[in-house]
Amino acid sequence: MTSHASRTTDGRKRLYDSVVDTIGNTPCIRVNRIAPKHVRLYVKAEFFNPAGSVKDRLAISIIEEAERRGDLKPGQTVVEATSGNTGIGLAMVCAAKGYPLVVTMADSFSIERRRMMRFLGAKVVLTPRAAKGLGMYRKAQELAEANGWFYARQFETPANAKIHENTTARELLADFNGERLDYWVTGYGTGGTITGVGRVLRKERPNTKIILSEPSIAQLLGSGVAQERGADHSPAGSHSAFTPHPIQGWTPDFIPYVLQESVDKHYYDELIPIAGPDAIAWSRRLALEEGIFTGISGGASLAAAVQVAERAPEGSVLCCMLPDTGERYLSTPLFEGVATEMTPEEEALSRSTPGYQMAAAA
Ligand code: PMP
Repeated sequence: MTSHASRTTDGRKRLYDSVVDTIGNTPCIRVNRIAPKHVRLYVKAEFFNPAGSVKDRLAISIIEEAERRGDLKPGQTVVEATSGNTGIGLAMVCAAKGYPLVVTMADSFSIERRRMMRFLGAKVVLTPRAAKGLGMYRKAQELAEANGWFYARQFETPANAKIHENTTARELLADFNGERLDYWVTGYGTGGTITGVGRVLRKERPNTKIILSEPSIAQLLGSGVAQERGADHSPAGSHSAFTPHPIQGWTPDFIPYVLQESVDKHYYDELIPIAGPDAIAWSRRLALEEGIFTGISGGASLAAAVQVAERAPEGSVLCCMLPDTGERYLSTPLFEGVATEMTPEEEALSRSTPGYQMAAAA
């Protein structure tokens, strides 16, 4: 980290034909100050994607796979149910490629998400939070059927895990080539990340332990209760172990079909429940002590990674996923207690020199 030369950069040595070509190749960054000293802990920072989250990968995959199959016609409307990041990713991809987009989203997800999607040209149809994830899911299905729109189906489509197999996993293999990788840690929303990366790591890095985490108050996998599903693999109803949790983007009220492969094929070695307040606390520490700005699910993954790190053998190397940027949570409990006006300490600083004082007048 220390160098006597001044910092320089030399460009990417290529030009990009479209914003969608900038998706992926996110960096793995070492966590220096808050990780236990006997391990090396890295975070894979998905907020480096152009629309700020891991779901940009899924968005381009869904659209390009559908174009390839001929299921998505030029100018056809795309519809999807999403907790936000998929909608923002799809809005970016649809704007770049000229498809109208309609998103259905429960009104419990953050305001920034809605406004970002609308800023990128999408229509956002809100569903009542009481109807949970399944409510927005069924609304998208209804709208697709009523209008002949292309339904993206992130919870079932093979395009989801496939992109993580072809990109996220390949990046991990390349970046940890010749290095230890003892643990890889993630949560799940659709399960695309764990299933796609699981397929590859199980084959290519069989010694890497895969750690999956879920909210402590929504332990759908931990409960061992199977998900009922319809013929189209869609959930038949809400899972009995679900209660609403603050880790946006994690664990909907059903076990998605995309995630089921990870369960059936044992892609994870351990399941760790994480409490919402711990997720928030670790996201804050990551920002304050490392300068790395991620959302609540990133804090949750880090909480799980630190738990594993604490009991890991000397010299272990861990990598955990940070799915999105903290900027998506300004209106949520993540920012609770972060002042808008000057704090007493800041007021004192303001008064400590004679010029340009705000509070002096009052
Ligand atoms: N965290 C956040 C903030 C997300 O939006 C998502 C995607 N829903 C995830 C984690 C989980 O990713 P995946 O859907 O690939 O399981």
